[in-house]
Amino acid sequence: MATYDVAGRSAIVTGGGSGIGAAVAEVLAASGAAVLVVDRDEAGARQVTERITAAGGTAETLGGDVTDEADVTAMVAAAGRLGPLRIAVNNAGIGGAAAPVADLSVADWRKVLDVNLDAVFLGMRAQIPAMIAAGGGAIVNMASILGSVGFANSSAYVTSKHGLIGLTRNAALEYAAHGVRVVSVGPGFIATPLVERSLDEPTRTHLDGKHALGRMGRPDEVAALVAFLASDAASFITGSYHLVDGGYTAQ
Ligand code: NAP
Repeated sequence: MATYDVAGRSAIVTGGGSGIGAAVAEVLAASGAAVLVVDRDEAGARQVTERITAAGGTAETLGGDVTDEADVTAMVAAAGRLGPLRIAVNNAGIGGAAAPVADLSVADWRKVLDVNLDAVFLGMRAQIPAMIAAGGGAIVNMASILGSVGFANSSAYVTSKHGLIGLTRNAALEYAAHGVRVVSVGPGFIATPLVERSLDEPTRTHLDGKHALGRMGRPDEVAALVAFLASDAASFITGSYHLVDGGYTAQ
């Protein structure tokens, strides 16, 4: 596993108990960060923490919901006990119900916006003051290729990820002078439990072919970009949206 320059930093990874978040937690820990693995699936997060500590890294588990303000406050406090908070990866997200706009229930719309967009706002509200107090840091928000293109029957998800990219740009402008960089990442389809749950096999095979590289990505291929963006190697990068999509949006 390639490593990045984040030694001695405390990092929050939300949705760290599965898929992309688990891979991000593992690469940050292998790179020397002390990682708080946050997930509402506490058992999943604990397994990731155990893998990290077994490999000689530093990590702790926190079961919590990113849409809950009290849980978000607790996350920042817990990360602070691992060291000054310097990295936050707001990665927790859900796919949501598949339906065209006129058939999507208001409840299903709000559920996706709540987790994928509002919770990132809540997270950054708590993370930014802690990072400024720590002398600066980096926030990586998990968008998607669907932050820049549409995908039929996924309006809530597509809207949440487009909004996330705007929120990221704004926060970057507001906190650059305080030493806090804020960026977003746009993965193509990545083979994770989220994709396995929401798409049947013929759809997954069809989607393989929508990537110029002819396949979906792996979580570690996204994690490498996230760790680079969180590290000092990315010191001149802020406000931007970074694709890791196997050529999906090139066509
Ligand atoms: P995943 O395997 O389902 O992992 C996401 C984790 O986040 C799950 O453990 C999930 O728990 C947790 N989570 C969901 N809502 C939460 C909440 N309110 N509070 C705390 N934890 C919560 O998904 P993934 O594919 O790795 O996706 C991670 C991120 O990448 C998401 O933001 C997703 O939109 C984005 N992304 C994924 C793909 C892809 O193709 N996989 C592509 C582009 C972007 P539950 O299992 O209980 O929901």
